[in-house]
Amino acid sequence: MKTIEDLDVAGKRVFVRADLNVPLSGGTITDDGRIRAVAPTIAKLAERGAKVVVASHLGRPKGEPDPQFSLAPVAARLGEILGRPVSFAADTVGESAKATVAALADGEVTLLENLRFNAGETSKDDAERGAFADELALLADLYVGDGFGAVHRKHASVFDLPARLPHAVGDLIATEVGVLKRLTEEVERPYVVVLGGSKVSDKVGVIDNLLGKADRILIGGGMAYTFLYALGNEVGISLLQKDQVPVVLDYLKRGEENGVEFVLPVDVAVSAKFPDTKTHAPVEDFAIVAASEIPEDKEGLDIGPKTRELFAAKLADARTVFWNGPVGVFEHPTFAEGTKAVAQALLDSDAFTVVGGGDSAAAVRILGFDETEFGHISTGGGASLEYLEGKTLPGLAALEG
Ligand code: ADP
Ligand code: MG
Repeated sequence: MKTIEDLDVAGKRVFVRADLNVPLSGGTITDDGRIRAVAPTIAKLAERGAKVVVASHLGRPKGEPDPQFSLAPVAARLGEILGRPVSFAADTVGESAKATVAALADGEVTLLENLRFNAGETSKDDAERGAFADELALLADLYVGDGFGAVHRKHASVFDLPARLPHAVGDLIATEVGVLKRLTEEVERPYVVVLGGSKVSDKVGVIDNLLGKADRILIGGGMAYTFLYALGNEVGISLLQKDQVPVVLDYLKRGEENGVEFVLPVDVAVSAKFPDTKTHAPVEDFAIVAASEIPEDKEGLDIGPKTRELFAAKLADARTVFWNGPVGVFEHPTFAEGTKAVAQALLDSDAFTVVGGGDSAAAVRILGFDETEFGHISTGGGASLEYLEGKTLPGLAALEG
């Protein structure tokens, strides 16, 4: 793979596929970690005299312009972080983009509007994606892939565009892949993995691969309830994926055979309804119950205090930790204690700690932890999981050669 040092960028239009998919609340960026993570690549290219054309997706618009997913606020923030102006194109391959790119002087930066405002970006149809990539290719001479959070997607700007332009891997992706390699090759043991979050079916797959590598797997967040249910517990109205029960039972069995310890919650925080994560309205019926005694009308929303201690103990002697997914609904302070405890346990250990996932990374910062104290905070959740699953990532494969 070529790096940006291998490209002669001076005076050239360089397309940087970034992942600027930041959390927004009413047009305000609540966590700018992903912007800061890719800024050094953009700055380096600009300093070397490139005309930098940055592009990203944001959220999940339906293949057409949708103002709530505009990247305009991100252009302003990127400009502040870079300390240089960043112009903004009101479309991706239309008149505005063409004019904005044409107006770039050497060393200037522009951001295109959300790539997913075009149906071609995410299309499953190779020809439709290819046609969009052809249009994008007209805007640049060179391509730099640096949107780690999107490399597991076979999308036009990630997969098809690099085939059309001389390309290189950006510094962020190079760093991310270097860290993940460390987790798949020579891991220092004990290697402890913490899995949480809400997207159960997305995350269950990684366990397959971890069964041959990790020493302990701690399960929190929404996924925990499918495990608890599979073991014969009632889980009330908690997140549950019944179709995953056979898969989960198979993992538990193979874990036993391979000497991989699964650690499940022993107590959980419950409420009859999902908390209001905007107003943080008090949770009137908050209760801690044993994991085997979740009432039928309640939902498990965080790990309980005994589980916090249990997880901390299982992390204390770790030498390597990978953590993906908050173990509770951390966006509401009442259900943030479990996630806080996990973050603290990572810092208290002497392990090389890797935190992956958009919400996990945001949680660490929003809950007030110093991100520099962790070994590595990844900008990609799905991408890092798929890498650890051993899958070929389209956006990395496209940068080979
Ligand atoms: P990441 O982005 O780090 O990969 P996910 O997107 O899978 O993580 O999940 C993050 C979300 O999971 C958070 O918004 C959090 O509120 C939610 N979550 C955590 N625990 C639970 C739970 N027990 N029930 C429902 N949602 C949960
Ligand atoms: Mg997420």
